[in-house]
Amino acid sequence: MTNSEDKNITCRDCQQEFVWTKGEQDFYAEKGLSAPSRCRDCRTKRKQMRDQGGQGRPMSNGPKEMFDIVCKKCDKPGQVPFKPTSDDVLCRDCFIASRE
Ligand SMILES: [Zn+2]
Ligand SMILES: [Zn+2]
Repeated sequence: MTNSEDKNITCRDCQQEFVWTKGEQDFYAEKGLSAPSRCRDCRTKRKQMRDQGGQGRPMSNGPKEMFDIVCKKCDKPGQVPFKPTSDDVLCRDCFIASRE
């Protein structure tokens, strides 16, 4: 037995016809919502995408900010990828040399 009050709606995203049941219609009417334009699958997918998008961090793939320094060891100007907090800073070469 089919419920004549169920409605068939064509999903806006996947173009599949889905059934909007009487129960759901009542639920929507209760909430004051308009008829769904997407099937359950597509709505779930969109929700997941939205949730993931909200949590996704922007990729820091831009160029690193470099700071000009004067090396305390060799007195040569150089650049470091961090903001030096004092003059006590080594250029890249001296920094690498100091670790070896
Ligand atoms: Zn769909
Ligand atoms: Zn140096």
